Amino acid sequence: TIGMIAMDTDNNMAAGTSTNGATHKVPGRVGDSPAVGAGAYVDNDVGGAAATGDGDIMMRFLPSYQAVESMRQGMTPADAVAEALRRITRVHPQFEGAVVAANANGEHGAACVGFEWFKYSLYDVNGLRLVDVPCRSS
Ligand code: ASP
Repeated sequence: TIGMIAMDTDNNMAAGTSTNGATHKVPGRVGDSPAVGAGAYVDNDVGGAAATGDGDIMMRFLPSYQAVESMRQGMTPADAVAEALRRITRVHPQFEGAVVAANANGEHGAACVGFEWFKYSLYDVNGLRLVDVPCRSS
C-alpha cells in the first residue's frame, strides 16, 4: 500500500491510499485501502492519517480515523498513531502494520508493529527526506 497525506499552500489537506491488495488477495476483495477511516482519513481542521497492514483487521478498527480523532483530542501525530495501533494489537497481538499521520500544523509521525523499521517520505519546505521509525514488537 502507498498512503499519502498532503497539504496545499492554503492549508487544505487530503489523504489517500493506493494498494495492490493483500498477498493472495481473494478476487473481488475490496480491503481497507478505499474504506474511509480504515485506509486513510483526513479532517482539514485536525490532520490526516494513512495505514498499511492487514486490511481485514484494520477495517474493524478504523486506525486512520482513530488517529485523526486522537489528534483532535490533543495527541501528537506520533502518539495518535501509536494509540491507533495499540487498539488493534490489544485484540490481535500478531498484527503487522503501520500508520502515518500529519496534523494541520505540519507535525508528523508514524508507528509500526510487527517488523523492525518503517520508513516514510517527507516533502516540505526543506525538501525531501526519509524518516525512519523503529517499530515496537507486538
Ligand atoms: N492494507 C492492504 C490490504 O489489506 C495491504 C497493505 O497495506 O499492503 O489490502
